[in-house]
Amino acid sequence: APALPPAEGATPAMAQWFAAKQAHPEALVFFRMGDFYELFFDDARRAGEALGLAVSQRGEHRGQPIPMAGVPVHALENYLARLIRHGFRVAICEQRETPEQAKARRAPTIRREVVRLVTPGTVTEEALLEGGRAAWLLALAREEGELAAAWADLSTGAFACEALPAAELPGLLARLDPAEIVLPEELDALPALLPWAERISHRPAARDPARRVAAFYGVATLEGFGGLGAAEVSACALALDYLRATQGEAAPRLRPPEPQGGRAVLRMDAATRRSLEILRSERGETRNCLAAAVDRTLTAPGCRELASRLAAPLTDGAAIGARHDAVAALLADAPLRGALRAALRGAPDMARALARLALDRFAPRDLAALRDGLARAEAMAEALARPGMPPLLDAAREALRPAGSPRAELERALCPELPARLEDGNIVAPGYDAELDGLKRLRDDARGAIAAMQLRLAQDWGVAGLKIRHHQQFGFLAEMPAAAGEKLLRDPPAALREGPHAPVHRQTMANAHRFTCAALAELDRKLAAAGEQAAKREAAVVRHLRALCLEAARPIDAAAAAMAEADIHAAAAELAAGGAWCRPEMVERPEFRIRQGRHPVVEAALARQRGAGAFVPNDADLSPGRRLCLLTGPNMAGKSTFLRQNALMVVLAQAGLFVPAGSARIGLVDRLFSRVGAADDIAGGRSTFMVEMTETAAILNQATARSLVVLDEVGRGTATWDGLAIAWSVLEALHDRIRARAIFATHFHELTALAPKLPELQLATMRVREHRGEVVFQHLVGPGAAEKSWGLHVARLAGVPRAVVTRAGAVLAALEERARGLEPLAEEMPLFGQVAERDTAPSATAAAAGAAEDPLRAAVAALDPDTLTPREALEALYRLKHLA
Ligand code: ADP
Repeated sequence: APALPPAEGATPAMAQWFAAKQAHPEALVFFRMGDFYELFFDDARRAGEALGLAVSQRGEHRGQPIPMAGVPVHALENYLARLIRHGFRVAICEQRETPEQAKARRAPTIRREVVRLVTPGTVTEEALLEGGRAAWLLALAREEGELAAAWADLSTGAFACEALPAAELPGLLARLDPAEIVLPEELDALPALLPWAERISHRPAARDPARRVAAFYGVATLEGFGGLGAAEVSACALALDYLRATQGEAAPRLRPPEPQGGRAVLRMDAATRRSLEILRSERGETRNCLAAAVDRTLTAPGCRELASRLAAPLTDGAAIGARHDAVAALLADAPLRGALRAALRGAPDMARALARLALDRFAPRDLAALRDGLARAEAMAEALARPGMPPLLDAAREALRPAGSPRAELERALCPELPARLEDGNIVAPGYDAELDGLKRLRDDARGAIAAMQLRLAQDWGVAGLKIRHHQQFGFLAEMPAAAGEKLLRDPPAALREGPHAPVHRQTMANAHRFTCAALAELDRKLAAAGEQAAKREAAVVRHLRALCLEAARPIDAAAAAMAEADIHAAAAELAAGGAWCRPEMVERPEFRIRQGRHPVVEAALARQRGAGAFVPNDADLSPGRRLCLLTGPNMAGKSTFLRQNALMVVLAQAGLFVPAGSARIGLVDRLFSRVGAADDIAGGRSTFMVEMTETAAILNQATARSLVVLDEVGRGTATWDGLAIAWSVLEALHDRIRARAIFATHFHELTALAPKLPELQLATMRVREHRGEVVFQHLVGPGAAEKSWGLHVARLAGVPRAVVTRAGAVLAALEERARGLEPLAEEMPLFGQVAERDTAPSATAAAAGAAEDPLRAAVAALDPDTLTPREALEALYRLKHLA
């Protein structure tokens, strides 16, 4: 950011602005001036650009005009939402006293202070949050060489931490997708943080972290929190510090941190998550991802919890089985599922309402959210009160009736329809608070008195058209047409020269006059006082209700979590009820047998597309003895879909959902690797091949015999022989050394020659056939290897001139002749396990160069028949002829 001009010589208000800006140089300062938040200097330009605001000028500073842009106070949330989405941070600088108070202190201007720092990871307003996603603030700390992360969602009160090796950090970040990361500058060098640079905020590590965490929760020691390590405590302290610093005086409500160290989750790295499109599609959208395709939840908390389960599936068979039990029970009992879903439909987000109440940034609808949410919870508890429920649903039922529930109180206290803002009044129902009712009656009586006064003055003053009206500035005044007013001024009735009803002229308008009198002024005062007192009392009642809710915050939280839990299981059952989904059988042995499996996202996309065929289910069997599947087939035949659908089975099953298959038997998976789809890292400046090799290295270094690996076309990013050599040795390593279950798709048909050497390798291919001169992809996986000449076949069917195809056939034959040398190679090459450091690359580089440089072949490869006009096709043909 450009340097600020020096503050010297600023007006008093601008001096406050400079102070705020210096304290928060990284943020845009929203400087409250009356009904606007103003931005100055470079802030005005940057916000103006991001929000499309006009930048004007306000006064001068050191002889230069001050650029200024403003947003109206009532539109704050809307503008904040847009700025936060643009990656800005905003410091809200409020007026902390009235102009009268400032005058009484003889201060040159009103006192203003930054009361809150709005950052992507610390927002609670509905407009600033994604309903279906958690908004994690993640803090990192290192103590005695150990790294730890703590992550908090201020909008729900969730808080967790984990000590982890630096190598695990990318996976954790990919899983949580934190809105903001806070860390001390010395941790900047962690390579895992590179892709997250825009979300990072810096803050020095907390001093005396244990004491700070203990103080936050008002406990003497942290022992009750379940054995936090020093680094974890430090990360927690940093997160709390940062939240405290951003929230000003408001006290955020967070549950005590839950150490995650013992919780075993299915490990997936960032590339795997991207490739499987779990929470976002490869384009970064939330549509067309796994979560969107399987989500039948009815509430925002349910949707958030589902997303977090899909992002972190379990590895513990018993815990997974418990979830499947709950889904099965709700699948079997349609009336129960219906009752639960009826209660869930439209249920409010209690966790987020509670967080706003705690931060004292709530609206009347947040109280209503608890009132209505607790009523829904009660209805669900009733529905679940039956024998034979699986343990998870039993536990949910108990939590759905929170101890100390403020529900009855809220139902009595709140008006059925609530206004948008607390200031609007009419929140507390009549009959709840006698004092408030009394004050309101007084206020309403005074209103009656105004009507009586209007009658009386009209009579006394002899003005039939007299109306008493309220004015912002002057209170109640008697208004009359100009003619009547002039007459009253000229010639007031004698009896009214003095006394409480004597007219006092206040204002002359174009065609009306306004008067008051001592009695009206007195009434006005009384009314204002009654109104003010009623508002004060109402505010006090609202604060009492807030306190009641916060007292029961923990049990309410648990009820909200139980609702989300029931929502997820009912949703999974609903999904299973609507189509051919089955309960996966989870076993310890590394089996993997899917019958009639489908890809839920592709299936849904096909169903939406008119004219598209139905999804073709496929089997997969990677059980011991046939752990490795080598899949061949032309492009567009459905290889990637098949690879991904099998990986997604694991994610869904271990997240606790049913799977899109006729039947599924899955040995628990510890790590899942998927390398399918685009691997380009143009932004990162690495070539496709480099990215591919880095990711392959990650698999070879981390996969275990309990892992599942799906790999698409390893080695495609380089010259044919290098690629083949690498694919070959990767395949051998997976088979012999790692012994993971794996599906390996390739266009190197030469690899099929390995089959006899690798006993657990099975060959599979995508079936394709020709039908009336067209290629038909059957999307069906069958045993065996693809025909090599499919490419030529497709070229002919696509209309590439016959002569070219014939010529290409001859070239292919020559190439195959050379490649035949490979088959004995498979026999000759010692297997991976037997090679120590020997180079396994075939020594055929010279031949490879010949093939790669064959200009005719290159020219044929470069042709895209679909985009050629007839004329271009003809020209291409001549060109090819020339090359031949
Ligand atoms: P490949 O990886 O072999 O190039 P894809 O897996 O990307 O092929 O599939 C190409 C298209 O074929 C998909 O977009 C989808 O529309 C369709 N497809 C793939 N698998 C199936 C299937 N099992 N049933 C029906 N259509 C499928």
